[in-house]
Formats: sequence, C-alpha cells, structure tokens
Amino acid sequence: MRKLFTSFPIGGEFHLTADDTHHLMRVLRAAAGDEVIVTDSRGASFHCKINGMDGKEAVLLPVARVEETDAAGPELILAAAVLKNDKFDWLVQKATELGVNRIIPIQMKYCVVKLNEKRRLERCKRWQKIALEAAKQCGRTDVPPVDDVHSLAELVRDYGDRFIVVPYELETVPAQAAAVAASRADTVVCIGPEGGFAREEIEFLKTCERCMTVSLGRRILRAETAALTAGGRFFFLRRVSAR
Ligand code: SAH
Repeated sequence: MRKLFTSFPIGGEFHLTADDTHHLMRVLRAAAGDEVIVTDSRGASFHCKINGMDGKEAVLLPVARVEETDAAGPELILAAAVLKNDKFDWLVQKATELGVNRIIPIQMKYCVVKLNEKRRLERCKRWQKIALEAAKQCGRTDVPPVDDVHSLAELVRDYGDRFIVVPYELETVPAQAAAVAASRADTVVCIGPEGGFAREEIEFLKTCERCMTVSLGRRILRAETAALTAGGRFFFLRRVSAR
C-alpha cells in the first residue's frame, strides 16, 4: 500500500501539497479512485481515497483509521557518534528502514567531525528529513524522531533509565548476552565514532547501572556497519520475542 505523511492533523477531506501530489501521482503512480495510507502530524494513519484534483493538489478523503503496529512494543533507540562525510545520512536512512524507533546523534571525543551550534541544527533538520523520506519509501507508518546532538552525559541523563547496550571492540562478552534484556525493555544501542570510544567514555558508561558493553565479533567493524548489525540484531530479536 502507498504511504504519505501530512504536516497537519487529518479530520475530513483534505488537500495534499503540490509536492506530495507529485510524489503520489508520479513516484507512487496512484490515480484518482485509488486508496493510499496517510499518516498525519499526530502519528494517526488513515486509509484515504483519492477523490480527484483541485489545481495541482490531490483531494483525499479519509475512509478508515489504520491499526498502528510499527510503534508497538519496547523501543529500540540508536545512539550513534556523529560520523564524517555523508555516513550519518546513510545510517539514518538504513536505521529507519530497519525500524529503529529513535535516532540520537552523539558528539564524542574521537569524532572526526566537530559540529558548531549552527551546523548541528542544520544537520539535525537534514537527518530528520532523511528519516521522513526513508519512512515513506519503506512504508513505515511512523517517522523516527532524530534528536538534537547529545553528549554522552546528556544521553545518560535523558535515557539512562533504558537498557544501554554498548558495542565495544575490546569487549569479549557476545552481543547475544544482551538479547533477552533488549527484547523486553526499551533499549539504547550506543555506537562509537571512527576513532572509537575514549577510555574515559567507556568508564563513564560502565558507571551506569543498566549499561552493558558487548562484542560484535573479532573483526573491527566500521562504525556504520557496527550500528546496523547491532541495531538490526536487537530489532529483530525484539520483534520475534514480542510475538
Ligand atoms: N577505535 C577503533 C575503531 C572503532 S570502530 C579502532 O580504530 O581500532 C567504531 C565503533 O564501532 C566502535 O566504537 C564500536 O562501537 C563499534 N565496533 C566496531 N567493531 C566492533 C566489534 N567487533 N565489537 C563491538 N563493537 C564494535
């Protein structure tokens, strides 16, 4: 089923923007009379019938509310160090496809990229837009929020009540050891930057009661590979055990 998003709450009949109409007609190849799923600004989704065109804007009529399933169950949050070039863009896109519930960019000591306030805001807006596009493309009914860039201390302050899994290449405990806990409780997977975690960062994370360092195997993975394999593994386990 084709899916779209609006920036307003859906009540009765409504107009899509010219851009969304273009996406609907040209990219998703829908026509008048077809049904699409539209998620509104409150996260509510509706089956909507395309009633026709008014100028360049499609007119849609909600016909039934959609049962939400994507947002159900414990949350999986990806907290990953900001990466250089477009690697974090890529990570946001893939994590959204895999079903991650929230993405938190983290500024760490050995990040190659150091963002100032202005660039941080620009990047976060851009990442949120990438998450929206990826959600549209893969047919998710919700868009994972991308938080403002956090420090590790802020991550622990804001999310320290969750289970925090930290893939760390010097750890030997396998990631599977965290699987049961990660499948039952809201979980944050925290990935280091290209340069790895600083020793004091790992020491700090280990002081959190609900934090666990794990290994993803003997090879050293690039940060984006580690993020996707860890995120994918925990997401999958969580879904399977939730059934
Ligand atoms: N500092 C390292 C590389 C860091 S890799 C070095 O250059 O030697 C980037 C991040 O990916 C790490 O901080 C860690 O979170 C994760 N990672 C990579 N390989 C891993 C592995 N085998 N097990 C667990 N985590 C790993």
